[in-house]
Amino acid sequence: MADAEIIAVGSELLTPSKVDTNSLFLTHELNALGVEVVRKSIVGDDRARLTGAIRDAMRNTRIVILTGGLGPTEDDVTRDAVSAATGRPLVFSQEICDVIAERFRRFNRPMAEINKRQAYLIEGAEALPNPRGTAPGQWLDSDGCSILLLPGPPGELKPMFANECAPRLRQRLPKLVIRTRWLRVAGMGESDLDALIAPVYTRYTNPVTTILAAIGDVHVHLRARSESETEAEALLDDVERQISGLLGDRIYSRGGASLEQVIGGLLLKRGATLSVAESCTGGLVAMRVTNVPGSSRYFLGGFLTYTDAMKTSLLGIPTELIAQHTAVSEPVALAMAGAAAKLTGSTYAVSVTGYAGPDGEAPGLVYLGVASPGKTEARRLQFSGDRERVRTLAAQTALDLLRRALLAS
Ligand code: ATP
Ligand code: MG
Repeated sequence: MADAEIIAVGSELLTPSKVDTNSLFLTHELNALGVEVVRKSIVGDDRARLTGAIRDAMRNTRIVILTGGLGPTEDDVTRDAVSAATGRPLVFSQEICDVIAERFRRFNRPMAEINKRQAYLIEGAEALPNPRGTAPGQWLDSDGCSILLLPGPPGELKPMFANECAPRLRQRLPKLVIRTRWLRVAGMGESDLDALIAPVYTRYTNPVTTILAAIGDVHVHLRARSESETEAEALLDDVERQISGLLGDRIYSRGGASLEQVIGGLLLKRGATLSVAESCTGGLVAMRVTNVPGSSRYFLGGFLTYTDAMKTSLLGIPTELIAQHTAVSEPVALAMAGAAAKLTGSTYAVSVTGYAGPDGEAPGLVYLGVASPGKTEARRLQFSGDRERVRTLAAQTALDLLRRALLAS
């Protein structure tokens, strides 16, 4: 994999009011070409500092991309700095000067003397046409490095990269196929998951494994690079098989589908329906289930019973059961799920009852119930963290419990 370094030039980019967006665009385009950006920096309009930064980059990477500082004024120092860093003089190009002069004629503007500064090419460099501006870009191969000088204005840089640079890079780089795979995992924290699978993925640099975590939802991303598709897929297969062996059925999807989409698919495949009875999640489970387009084919509805009285009046949970065990208990979770299935006529039902916190007797204590044909089960969980985290984890775990019940039936 080829490496690149990006240097954004311009003192304005070191102020609080201007953001370097060029490097984000370039990184995206480079990645698509199979080039990894290994470092990027911002250097003010300072010839000596910039020269140092370019020398440093040339020692580290094969591709050095500079953006900005190609204007005609004294503070545009990119050409000078590359010239100094490579020891190559700047050479006046009458051809480029004519192109610039023609552009001024077309806009009926006189060409200032200083614009001639933009007609200097670093010795050995190729000029990259800039139909959107005056300063041409430059492509220089020197000391084993490709050094690209691109204009700062994004409207000039983007077409120049796409039209002039990407094709040249593609030609020079080995043909590269990139294939990716996602494993989505529920019911496991990021650090536990990492501890489990790190012994596998740290042995490989190709594919590259990245772990992205949200609350109760961890995504393992595998990215393989190779000269052929078959080879890239084989590299993925090898690592995926080992990771899958460790994670087992905690993996809920491989193609990028969300947990609620997976559940929808499982319900549809079984011709089954679903209902919910929620307390502390306040409808979060139902919201997630109905986020999926077409969920009306399997989701019947549900009950939002926040108080004990509502649990009794809507779901028919006996007051004695609540009095004996409290509303946050296994018997009540089981009864809620059973009642939802019975009252709606759904094949499956999910219930949630718990203390979202942060106040109260046992913040984070949650009971989940799942009613399946011929079986109702409950699970006690103690979550930690703030209210949002507890509720998110409760909904996520409830959905995962349902997924497992569906797989088991
Ligand atoms: P010009 O001929 O317009 O002076 P230049 O190549 O010298 O072009 P700069 O002077 O460095 O480029 O920048 C011109 C303008 O382009 C800046 O004012 C800024 O709006 C935008 N720009 C420069 N660098 C970046 C960057 N890295 N990200 C986003 N915008 C940038
Ligand atoms: Mg400028």
